[in-house]
Amino acid sequence: MASKKRILVTGGAGFLGSHLCDRLVNEGHDVICLDNFFTSQKINVAHLLGKPNFELIRHDVTQPITLEVDQIYNAACPAAPGHYQYNPVKTMKTSVMGAINMLGMAKRCRARILQFSTSEVYGDPTVHPQPEGYRGNVNPIGPRACYDEGKRAAETLFFDYQRMHRMDIRVVRIFNTYGPRMHPFDGRVVSNFIRQATAGEPITIFGDGKQSRSFCYVDDLVEVIIRMMNGPDGFHGPVNIGNPDEFTMIELAKLVIELSGSRSQIVNKPLPADDPLQRQPDIALAKKMLGWEPKVKLRQGLEKTIAYFKSVDMSQFRAPTPNY
Ligand code: NAD
Ligand code: UDP
Repeated sequence: MASKKRILVTGGAGFLGSHLCDRLVNEGHDVICLDNFFTSQKINVAHLLGKPNFELIRHDVTQPITLEVDQIYNAACPAAPGHYQYNPVKTMKTSVMGAINMLGMAKRCRARILQFSTSEVYGDPTVHPQPEGYRGNVNPIGPRACYDEGKRAAETLFFDYQRMHRMDIRVVRIFNTYGPRMHPFDGRVVSNFIRQATAGEPITIFGDGKQSRSFCYVDDLVEVIIRMMNGPDGFHGPVNIGNPDEFTMIELAKLVIELSGSRSQIVNKPLPADDPLQRQPDIALAKKMLGWEPKVKLRQGLEKTIAYFKSVDMSQFRAPTPNY
């Protein structure tokens, strides 16, 4: 390791945040995990408690907090549609006020700060695959807007702070990512299909199932996020990160059924409003600037995720929202 740093991970108890904390703690950094546990379980970081270089703080990023750190990963925000639509006003506050509070901290500490942005800034894209230069097709008043526009506003704040205060910001646009520690009741497609398949319940495909997504395994994602944080001077992004291998929801459902040895039937449910038809990252910039591309194939990543879902006791998980 180059040098030991004091690193804050907001949303650090969540799916992606907890894997990031694992990597940073193992590398010997002094890690502060901050979370309000809206969509996560303490179990995700329980194995880190007691380590001398790990600290857990229950806090809401919409409120200011004073900490002394060298780097900030700002991941706090509900990410699954059912979670972020539960209290859309709070989702917008988390993105915008969370960004302002964390940027303020980074400014005071002269820390480098990385924002977990999203492919949702492209909305229902009319350009395929999506390069960073594409400005998107977002419905500003639809049910996904609290998340999409909140994340877009956060990007605006990051780049305005950079221009105004010469701050060292980094922005990654994350495409659909999956793996162990996804919340089993988050309603996202991978967790839903695996939970349904392992319980022998019907697999719910929304719409005709011909819509596509490109799925990245969590280990590949954490690797590139750390590379971006420690990447070339002056490279702020935004940079797309994800796995360009694209699948329809029908293909995903069949693969999950096969790999989990399930006898579940497929049923069709209505397509939610503003559900993007297709999504695939153009990762040329990440390849060029960070020397990165994903290694884990969907089949391989799903096997690990299915093994995780089979190993956990579902009754221990609290559904974060009443609808899921
Ligand atoms: P997650 O829901 O598992 O993690 C989010 C974490 O943030 C949770 O631990 C939650 O309790 C916490 N949180 C929410 N609101 C908070 C608040 N106001 N204050 C403090 N903590 C709060 O979801 P995830 O998939 O791990 O997503 C992490 C980040 O990555 C999010 O910012 C999300 O927008 C982004 N992202 C994820 C994906 C993906 O496919 N997983 C794709 C694009 C972007
Ligand atoms: N989806 C589905 N069945 C489910 C959950 C989701 O067919 O049980 C579809 C959803 O309509 C979308 C895709 O899977 O087209 C991905 O949904 P997810 O909520 O995982 O993420 P999104 O990329 O839409 O934010």
